[in-house]
Amino acid sequence: MTQYVIIGDGISGSSAAETLREKDPDAQITVITDEGEPLYNRILIKEHAKGKLPEAPISIHDEGWYEERDIDLSLNTHVTSVDTDAKVVHTHDSGDLEYDKLLVATGGTPTQLPVDNSDADGIHHFWTFEDARGIREHAEQSDTGVIVGAGLLGIDFAAVCGAQGIEANYLMRGDRWWRYALSADGAEIMHEGMRDVGVEPVFDSGVDHFETGDDGHVTAAVDPNGDRYECDFAGVAIGLSFNTEFLRGAGLEEDNGIIVDEFMQTNVDDVYAAGDLTRFHDVLLGEQAQNGSWGSAKEQGRIAAVNMAADDEAEQFEWVSSYSITHFDFPFLSFGHPTLGDEYAERKYSDTEWRRIAFKDGKVVGGVLIGDLSPQTALKQLMREQRVVADQKEVLLEKSVDLDELAPTQEQ
Ligand SMILES: Cc1cc2nc3c(=O)[nH]c(=O)nc-3n(C[C@H](O)[C@H](O)[C@H](O)COP(=O)(O)OP(=O)(O)OC[C@H]3O[C@@H](n4cnc5c(N)ncnc54)[C@H](O)[C@@H]3O)c2cc1C
Repeated sequence: MTQYVIIGDGISGSSAAETLREKDPDAQITVITDEGEPLYNRILIKEHAKGKLPEAPISIHDEGWYEERDIDLSLNTHVTSVDTDAKVVHTHDSGDLEYDKLLVATGGTPTQLPVDNSDADGIHHFWTFEDARGIREHAEQSDTGVIVGAGLLGIDFAAVCGAQGIEANYLMRGDRWWRYALSADGAEIMHEGMRDVGVEPVFDSGVDHFETGDDGHVTAAVDPNGDRYECDFAGVAIGLSFNTEFLRGAGLEEDNGIIVDEFMQTNVDDVYAAGDLTRFHDVLLGEQAQNGSWGSAKEQGRIAAVNMAADDEAEQFEWVSSYSITHFDFPFLSFGHPTLGDEYAERKYSDTEWRRIAFKDGKVVGGVLIGDLSPQTALKQLMREQRVVADQKEVLLEKSVDLDELAPTQEQ
C-alpha cells in the first residue's frame, strides 16, 4: 500500500488528495496543514473582509469530506523538516510521518515591508481566512487607510477600504498601478475605479516608515518624499515569500520557488510540488514560469497526483491561467503571462474599456482585458495553439475578435 503525504491543504494540496484517492483507492493519504481549518476558498476571503459575505459559503471542505474519502487530515500541524533520504516528514508536535511519495503544496506568506514599525498594530497582510477576519473587524472601526503594493493583491485592500468606508491613500512606486502589465491608458481606468470607491492613488511614492501612537497602533505612513499620510488602517501586499524553509537540506532545487518539470516532479525522486510555490516548465511558453492563481494551483495539484499515482510520467501540466477582479463597475481579467512579452499590442475602446496583448516570438503569451472580457476565449485559444499571430495585431484588436479573419497559418 503506497503512503502519500501532502504538505498543505490549500487548493493545490486538496485537489491532489482528491485525485490520489480516485486514482489509488487503497493508498494511505495524509494531508498536513498548519492552518486550523480545512480547505476554504481563498479567492472569496476578500469578500468577507469587505463585509459582503458571511463565513459559511467560503468554506469548501469540512472535516467530514476527508473522513468520507479515508484521507487523514492533520490540522494545526507545522512541518519543520523533511528527510528525503529516509523519506520522513518531521512535524513540530505530531511526530514523524513516513512517505513513499511526497507532495509539497505549501504556497507562500506575504512579505513584510522592511521598514520601521512595519509590524505595528493595524498593519495588515492578507493571505488566510484568519487574516480576513482580522481585517474585517478592524476595517469596520477604521476611518483612514494606507495601502502599499501596486499589484493584484494590493487592489483587494483598496476594495476593502472602499467597501468599509475607509478614506484611503494607495501609495505606489512609479506612475501607475501594476506597471509591469499595464500601460498608462489601462492603468488610468483602474485608478478611476479606485477613486470611485474613495481610494486615492498616489504615484512615485511608497513607504519609508510607519508612525505609531503610544499604544503601538499605526497612526501614519511616511513616504520616501517625506509626505505623511495619516491612517488607522494599513494594508501591505508587496509580494509572497514561498514557504520552503522546512526543506532546507532536503536537496530540492529552488530558484525563487521550487523547480519542477511539466509533470510537477522535483529534482528529488518521489518528491513533487504544486501550486503557487512552483517554478514549472511551461510547455506553452517553452521555458520556466510561475503562476499565482487558484485555477492553476488546482490543476497543478491534480496533475501532480496523476503522476504520483502512475508508474511513469502520465500527464503534463498545460494551462492558461486567468485572474479576474470584480471590485469595480467594469470587469478586469489578466490571463497567461502578461508581463513576459517581447512585443505588445493595445487599444483603448472607451473610458472603461481597454485591451493589451503580450506576444513572445510572435505568439500570444498573455494579456489584460478591461471592460469587455469576451475576447478571452479567442485569445486563450491562440495561446494554446501557439500560433504565430503578432503580425496580425489589427484583427486581434478588433472590438470583437473573429479568428476566422486571421490569415491561414504558414507552414514553418
Ligand atoms: C486575498 C487573496 C485574493 C486572491 N484572489 C484571487 C483571485 O481572484 N483569482 C485567483 O486566481 N487567485 C487569487 N488568489 C490567489 C490564490 O488564492 C492562490 O493562487 C492559491 O490559493 C494558491 O494555492 P496553493 O495551494 O498553492 O497555496 P495556499 O493556498 O497558500 O496553501 C498552502 C497551505 O500550506 C500551508 N503551509 C505552509 N507551510 C506549511 C508547513 N510548513 N506545514 C504545514 N502547512 C504549511 C499554509 O498554511 C496553507 O494552508 C488570491 C489570494 C489571496 C490571498
